[in-house]
Amino acid sequence: MVRKLKEADVVIVGLGWTGGILAKELAEAGLNVVALERGGMRSTSNDYSMPNIRDELRYVVRHDLMMDTTQQTLTIRNDPAQEALPMRRLGAFLPGEVVGGSGVHWTGHVWRWTDNEFKIRARYEERYGKNLIPDDMPIQDWGIGYDELEPYYERFEYTAGVSGKAGNLKGQIQPGGNPFEAQRGRDYPLPPLTPILASEMFAKAAYRSGYHPFPRPSANASRPYTNPDGAQFGACQYCGYCMRFGCEANAKGSPHMTVIPTAMANPNFELRTHAWVTKVLKDSDGKRVTGVTYTNVLNGEELEQPARIVVLAAYALNNVHLMMLSGLGEIYDPATQKGLLGRNYCYQTSNGATLFFEGRHFNPFMNAGGSNDVIDDFHSNWAFDRGPHGFVGGSIISGGFNTVLPISYRPVPAGTPQWGKAWKAATAKWYQAAMTIVSAGSVMANRANYLDLDPTYKNALGQPLLRMTFDFKANEHKLSRQAADVVNAIARSMNPTAIIPASARTQPWDYVPHQSTHNIGGAIMGTDPGNSVLNKYLQAWGYHNLFVVGANAFPHNAAYNPTGPLGALAYFTADAIKTRYIKSPGELMPG
Ligand SMILES: Cc1cc2nc3c(=O)[nH]c(=O)nc-3n(C[C@H](O)[C@H](O)[C@H](O)COP(=O)(O)OP(=O)(O)OC[C@H]3O[C@@H](n4cnc5c(N)ncnc54)[C@H](O)[C@@H]3O)c2cc1C
Repeated sequence: MVRKLKEADVVIVGLGWTGGILAKELAEAGLNVVALERGGMRSTSNDYSMPNIRDELRYVVRHDLMMDTTQQTLTIRNDPAQEALPMRRLGAFLPGEVVGGSGVHWTGHVWRWTDNEFKIRARYEERYGKNLIPDDMPIQDWGIGYDELEPYYERFEYTAGVSGKAGNLKGQIQPGGNPFEAQRGRDYPLPPLTPILASEMFAKAAYRSGYHPFPRPSANASRPYTNPDGAQFGACQYCGYCMRFGCEANAKGSPHMTVIPTAMANPNFELRTHAWVTKVLKDSDGKRVTGVTYTNVLNGEELEQPARIVVLAAYALNNVHLMMLSGLGEIYDPATQKGLLGRNYCYQTSNGATLFFEGRHFNPFMNAGGSNDVIDDFHSNWAFDRGPHGFVGGSIISGGFNTVLPISYRPVPAGTPQWGKAWKAATAKWYQAAMTIVSAGSVMANRANYLDLDPTYKNALGQPLLRMTFDFKANEHKLSRQAADVVNAIARSMNPTAIIPASARTQPWDYVPHQSTHNIGGAIMGTDPGNSVLNKYLQAWGYHNLFVVGANAFPHNAAYNPTGPLGALAYFTADAIKTRYIKSPGELMPG
């Protein structure tokens, strides 16, 4: 028996960055908003405070803030000929499952993706003709441009308290910033974080090699900050517990200390935690959605929440899964190339070198998400010619530390025994004296990479799991070769005592080691219902009162982290709903 509740103006599924932004904005616009979040409520004072938060067993090994794979997971395989098996333990990616979502335990790097991403097919064809993009690479323009998103990027950066240095202010290149960024109207709200020694050494070497290092923009507040909504940030303590942890200093811009409390202070907003949404409901003529069903995971009760507008903000993979479970679109079939839902799923590549400098003291226990310098010379610009390499996309390369956790970060040179006395001696010797240079690389859509429903495995509520079919293709192998060569050349120019060099990817993708939670695609945005699931307002083609907000909308993956454009798009969608949709409900035409 499903208990039917009173209709809300808006129901939001999932309360991370995207859900939080929509919740705050729509409640402020006078709409009555209900958010349904599968995870529970945590707080900085109780859960993310010292000493509890510095618990590697709880947060790194036991994934305390993340999706519980005993209840919900997905099946994974590298190609359609294989049988997909359930991911029973999180590995490559770590989706969040608390109020605040992954935005609680993210690192905080914030990028502005530019028109070379949003207009990727047009730009590459213009530069290289039609031959560089292979037939099995269905990349496409996004249907939106940088200029439209620019004010919304700024809003997100000011909300999240991003520290950084502008590289292109109103068309003027700024010394010390990223000379390849698109022009911005304002600088970041906060100056860059203090660089660590390893980053300074990387920056010098990159500069000597002719590149353009700059401080990585990051939502780690370099000084105390109050954002435009009045949320108060402490200054970053450089403790290094950013990725996988909530911030004890409230210095990491996160939805649970910015947009969500603002929404919660608004009487128009109601949050229900432990609410697992199972389906989006459609009306009988199939042109509108009417609400969602959900299960209260604390007592098993099933409920229906009717709503005039449904916003899916449950993370890219979960948004696609919910659309498939609800019959909202035809699921992609790689054999026939029919169906749009599930298409263009992309992950990211990464590789890196570890450098050992005998006698150096890097103090790796002091770090922050944004205290590493980075170079953007090989990504969204044409200064780097892809022609000789024969690939589409690019990489960013940074130097410093990837993670500095005192138990799990134990770098030792190649050839060191993996246990026993010799390992102990080596780990004591090198802990202070090692640093890394890493690259992150883009992934282009491929016809054989996609999401659909698993025919065999089910979640704790008896629903088919999402099935992921993904592998790196020739494009990514070439790209990772080029990135590894640059990483190794910079690393060797620094004359380390020993080096574990970066190696190009040749093996099938493996979902076990941690890589990044930058899953994108599956319900993509585009210019028309023939090539996409959503329009540029992230409104579903064919269901005008359904908005699907997440990186599922990205038709390909850049090397950049996704949350900059994700936050910008969430504000863009919120504005479209507030200023246009609620006045005249229907399909939003470009305007
Ligand atoms: C370790 C880590 C480091 C990262 N670092 C960076 C970084 O430096 N820079 C960057 O740009 N990005 C980074 N990311 C990615 C970033 O966190 C995400 O892009 C962003 O938080 C996604 O926001 P979202 O609102 O789409 O989803 P989420 O934040 O994942 O929120 C979705 C919410 O929906 C809930 N939910 C899911 N399914 C249901 C359901 N059926 N019913 C009800 N609720 C549901 C979940 O519990 C969750 O709380 C990182 C991610 C991780 C995990």
